[in-house]
Amino acid sequence: MNRFDYVRPATLAEAVEAARAPGSAYLAAGTNLLDLMKGGVARPARLVDVTRLPGLDRVETMPDGGLRIGALVRNADLAHDPAFARTCPAVAEALLSGASAQLRNAATVGGNLLQRTRCPYFYDPASACNRRDPGTGCDARGGENRLHAVLGWSDACIATHPSDFAVPLVALDASVEVEGTSGRREIPLEQLHRLPGDTPERETVLEPGDLIVALRLPAAALGFAGHARYVKLRERTSYAFALVSAAAALRLDGDRIVEARIALGGVAAKPWRAREAEAALLGATPGRDAFRRAAGLALAEAHPSGDNAFKIELARRVAARALALAAAGTPERLPALPASPFATAPGVLQDA
Ligand code: SF4
Repeated sequence: MNRFDYVRPATLAEAVEAARAPGSAYLAAGTNLLDLMKGGVARPARLVDVTRLPGLDRVETMPDGGLRIGALVRNADLAHDPAFARTCPAVAEALLSGASAQLRNAATVGGNLLQRTRCPYFYDPASACNRRDPGTGCDARGGENRLHAVLGWSDACIATHPSDFAVPLVALDASVEVEGTSGRREIPLEQLHRLPGDTPERETVLEPGDLIVALRLPAAALGFAGHARYVKLRERTSYAFALVSAAAALRLDGDRIVEARIALGGVAAKPWRAREAEAALLGATPGRDAFRRAAGLALAEAHPSGDNAFKIELARRVAARALALAAAGTPERLPALPASPFATAPGVLQDA
């Protein structure tokens, strides 16, 4: 373990000032950061503990009907908030599909969005990794890479973003409020994470000192509550990151789709919004043909980065399945376990 400074600011301004120095990192629950430090992957010179900052642990309804969720709200508290689960069911479903109950009890909204990739080579300081140590190479390219990206990857890095939570949030046009050295600004969540390009070490658009203080969901996001689902496929039922996942949300008028949202997880270095697929569903009648066509469009640009061609077809099927489940209607109560692609639901085709 490296030596590091520890500071616990009392105000936002003090926190930003303390974290602008090179080598600083914010600490909230630490469910990812402390593991990285223990493994010698992250070596911050200063930890800025934000857990005592006032006012960041609230969920508020805004005057326009949207939601503002403080960055220190715990994942479990948000997922189990009945009003939130009713209005944003796909987000609650995604939260409950992530990590373990113990981790969800500790992990925060802000930390979830900023967690690091789970590429095993990133976590092994003996491996070459451009994301951890720029310019060293990428051992995943010629190694074990069946879980890696099929969209938006580059020769420098083929890692995926691990958050479930972020996937429906991107579909629903969420944004983050960021406090920085020049004051407060709002960033659409879809623009927060960067694709790797030649600089995979720059994972987000945040600048030194920037602190996510809240997540915002616009009022329009709540209009999908009746038809929104998150489907996650993974190698075991709990405590595993997504092989592929999909969030789907629909607004229906009779037997027509008037608005569709779809985003994919586990396929790229950021949650992947599938706008062409959404556009193709406008005016369509919900059903297998329309959902398969949309899912095909969502993966149209996908190509394997290694031994992971299977993920492309898997993602297509999970996207079509999420759309079918969304069209069938959000269940009165969320399932005890997240939606399984293999579970039956009334009116939902099994071979989506
Ligand atoms: Fe590192 Fe990215 Fe390569 Fe994984 S895929 S070893 S994170 S550069």
